[in-house]
Amino acid sequence: MQSSHEKYQLKEVINASGKMTILGVSKVSKKVQEAQIEGGNNFYEMSELMSQTGNYIANLVGVEGARVVSSASAGIAQSIAAVIGKGSRYHLYHPYEDRGEAREIIIPKGHNVDYGTGIDVMIAQGGGKIVEAGYSNRCTPEDIEMMITDKTAAILYVKSHHTVQKSMLTIQEAIEVAHRHKLPLILDAAAEEELSYYVELGADLIIFSGAKAIEGPSSGLVVGKQPYMEWVSMQSLGMARSMKIGKENVLGFTQAIEDYLANGSEDGESMKRRLVPFLENLNTLTGITATCVQDGAGREIYRAEVKVSENLDAKEVIRELKAESPAVYTREYRANNGIIEFDIRAVSEDEMTKIVERLRTIVTE
Ligand SMILES: *Cc1c(COP(=O)(O)O)cnc(C)c1O
Repeated sequence: MQSSHEKYQLKEVINASGKMTILGVSKVSKKVQEAQIEGGNNFYEMSELMSQTGNYIANLVGVEGARVVSSASAGIAQSIAAVIGKGSRYHLYHPYEDRGEAREIIIPKGHNVDYGTGIDVMIAQGGGKIVEAGYSNRCTPEDIEMMITDKTAAILYVKSHHTVQKSMLTIQEAIEVAHRHKLPLILDAAAEEELSYYVELGADLIIFSGAKAIEGPSSGLVVGKQPYMEWVSMQSLGMARSMKIGKENVLGFTQAIEDYLANGSEDGESMKRRLVPFLENLNTLTGITATCVQDGAGREIYRAEVKVSENLDAKEVIRELKAESPAVYTREYRANNGIIEFDIRAVSEDEMTKIVERLRTIVTE
């Protein structure tokens, strides 16, 4: 069979950037693909499929409720709509019509990030009014607390490397403030690795992206407490209809969660081991110094940090790495400081060799 790359004249891609939406996020396992095929080959009462897979996942994670959704973004919008509507049927059909409901969503200013779209766009899609607390480089529990009024619907906390990390209140502190004021704490943990941890901390609604750490198909997950979860689920009859997920991916993702909880993902030690020959080979190139670094947000992820010498422009190197097929995608966040990062979680040994050869050509030109 002709490959999709040939048929549609697409570039091959080596993904050394991590779980990136612009590249299709992640590959799925055989077992997950089989679950997707099973879904594609059968009919279900969809409302039962959604609630029963939700119950199954809730049981695995150890939480009151769970719901598969189409993406973490959909999960955010649905959670916002849920805490505003609080189960109201009127709100379900008039989600954006103001009847004086509490609609304000307080978020630390440094958490109002662009992860591919602005998180404020998803808050607006859920019918929320964003209220930023603190400053771009500081948010304390007091900064949050002073923004709370009778118009506050929830506090939103984003756990991510995208956010400002310094002088930022912890999740525990955010939960404490929320609960002191009888407000729910919504946690965007889209790319996080721990499914049960945030439940134990006491967050009310927690949102994950299906294809990031969990390596499922395109999907998302909301877990949390009742009655919030019920209010999230009912949105599929309202504003979330445009965010519908197919039965193939509901079954594929549920399988991926089960596998992820049983096996976890690649551990830090394994990444460090796989990095050794890659780093050695990179260090044979002139004008390049490669070292092993841990993820900036402290996750158990190790990457190759490549520092290019002053006569090389990191941005130009990054551009050239992407120019040919296979296109090599890297982490570009620190290019201004002459640093390119390679995330090897989705990179095979063979592909690492190709990366080194490609870099050799670039630096000798
Ligand atoms: C990736 C990401 C999202 C969005 O996830 P999707 O499933 O692609 O919608 C939301 N928030 C953060 C912090 C993310 O990193």
